[in-house]
Amino acid sequence: MGTVLHTVAIVGLGLIGSSIARGARTYGLADRVVAVDRDEAVLDRVRALGIADLATSSLADGVTEADLVILCVPVGAIGAVAAELAPHLKPGAILSDVGSVKGSVVAAAASHLKPENPFVPAHPVAGTEYSGPDSGFATLFQNRWCIITPPEGVDDGAVATVTAFWEGLGAIVETMTPEHHDLVLAITSHVPHLIAYNIVGTAADLETVTQSEVIKFSAGGFRDFTRIAASDPTMWRDVFLTNKEAVLEMLGRFNEDLSALTKAIRWGDGDALFELFTRTRAIRKGIVAMGQETAEPDFGRARLDAKSD
Ligand code: NAP
Repeated sequence: MGTVLHTVAIVGLGLIGSSIARGARTYGLADRVVAVDRDEAVLDRVRALGIADLATSSLADGVTEADLVILCVPVGAIGAVAAELAPHLKPGAILSDVGSVKGSVVAAAASHLKPENPFVPAHPVAGTEYSGPDSGFATLFQNRWCIITPPEGVDDGAVATVTAFWEGLGAIVETMTPEHHDLVLAITSHVPHLIAYNIVGTAADLETVTQSEVIKFSAGGFRDFTRIAASDPTMWRDVFLTNKEAVLEMLGRFNEDLSALTKAIRWGDGDALFELFTRTRAIRKGIVAMGQETAEPDFGRARLDAKSD
């Protein structure tokens, strides 16, 4: 990275915020890392983990000296947090975020900022199903995409700073409009999470198969959905409330395709099933080839027998 920032302030020290704090330290991206969180228990963990130079619950104190402020709170809270901190930003300080939805979130935050504070929204496409400051790690963003959605006319220097910061964390940066981001993420992330939440919910409500059978025989495929369905309820509630249009559009397509599959099964159309399953296998190979997944069997899980070594 070209420039080392003097102070970066991170608001919300959960999985993503604490990973950025750790990465900023590990890769030398800022002289000073400030952690801001509303929760004293989170701040105590941040101090114990030693991942920030200052840990405070005061937004005003936390952001006042920052060159770059990154909002790592749930998307439903980004607008309100931006409104509260905006008067305390120094001239030229850049505001960014990591929200999983961009359109409505960008609009909610941008309206509160003074013209001398550029807003460069970002979304690292990396995560796990865990939450909180203990779940973060410095290498979370290595070789993962980070999408930035700079508003028209925003300062080029600010875009370059945010790009360099994410590259410093090991990410590959791509730029797109907020609207396109929300469509792409609706199909690659939001609808898959909805499907996982739905199938796990359906299994939990069945009367003909017991809960213990569902758990016992979960290695048949169900288990892989439960990992996604264990994701943070606040974060995902906010994603579906704020990316409503794009998710509904993709769900419309999904429901049509599911109906076609239902018909193929009902009519014994093996060719249609085989053709689809062959195409989907190729997509998986493409993801592995791009380094976004491991080719190891069973998602690279350690074998049970290896665990006891
Ligand atoms: P997380 O682990 O649950 O952490 C969120 C943090 O924000 C917590 O410290 C939380 O404090 C704080 N917070 C919640 N509501 C707040 C409010 N109204 N005002 C101030 N602070 C508040 O969540 P995360 O997974 O890091 O997600 C954070 C952001 O990253 C979200 O916008 C999400 O869309 C985005 N993101 C997540 C992933 C992922 O896979 N997890 C990937 C990419 C981007 P409390 O403990 O008090 O609630």
